[in-house]
Amino acid sequence: MILSIASGKGGTGKTTVAVNLALSLEGSCSVQFLDCDVEEPNAHFFLKPLIHQSQPVFLPVPEIVEEKCTYCGKCAEVCAYNAIAVLKDTVLVFPELCHGCGGCSLLCPEQAIKEKGKRIGVMEFGAANDLQFIHGKLDIGQAMSPPLIREVKNHMNRERTIIIDAPPGTSCPVIESVKGSDVSLLVTEPTPFGLNDLRLAVETLRELKIPFGIILNRADIGDKQVQDYCLKENIPVLMTIPTDRNIAVAYSEGKTIIETQPAYKQKFLELFKKVQKLKK
Ligand code: SF4
Ligand code: SF4
Repeated sequence: MILSIASGKGGTGKTTVAVNLALSLEGSCSVQFLDCDVEEPNAHFFLKPLIHQSQPVFLPVPEIVEEKCTYCGKCAEVCAYNAIAVLKDTVLVFPELCHGCGGCSLLCPEQAIKEKGKRIGVMEFGAANDLQFIHGKLDIGQAMSPPLIREVKNHMNRERTIIIDAPPGTSCPVIESVKGSDVSLLVTEPTPFGLNDLRLAVETLRELKIPFGIILNRADIGDKQVQDYCLKENIPVLMTIPTDRNIAVAYSEGKTIIETQPAYKQKFLELFKKVQKLKK
């Protein structure tokens, strides 16, 4: 089972749900936790894994072998990201725009493109009791998170239940994170902003054909628009979490809900049963 936890916008409690669900499953099944929110990973504050390995991640960016280049322009033509410009007697490469797809070097008729690794971040591997943990950390100033997310996901352990903490939003990094999931959970809150971002996230998951359900956090604030929307769209609301000062205080202290309110463990286990029913 690959289960991703996403949210249309930040600050809805996505990581809270992901870590509490992962810890609640301890004892019932083996879990691997992947924090794919590589621009701002924070699950480790709550899971407190012991990190035992660190591995830098590189993006293959082109380097032109000027002696072989005929300035034919083919590489600039194939690059969908405008990361190469061919002038009369030089080729300019813009590494910060390069996605490392390898298309230019593959299609250069003169084999005049070598690839060199550009560091974009690091992966850290750890464990918290039986839970396996991996997160990616994008280097400061780097913008290319999907290749790092891909690399983290390349280390999935299919023998375990995999919980992916996706980045917030609906852009490329989110799609890269949730792609291939058996089920996704969307964490939202019942406010007009929550609803707007939820609609976008729902469209994305429907496009990717991933079954999903909703977790309504701070369920007693705002209005009923999110519930009405879910009803109309036939989207199951799998769990509601009320506004609770104790949860907010625990979060600010790096503690989990089940640590401070153990009764929640059963609620997260019930949530997981509902998730299993959603799996195709
Ligand atoms: S495709 Fe190859 S030969 Fe043509 S301009 Fe680019 S690097 Fe030079
Ligand atoms: S590797 Fe891909 S993204 Fe990078 S310059 Fe070549 S074609 Fe463009």
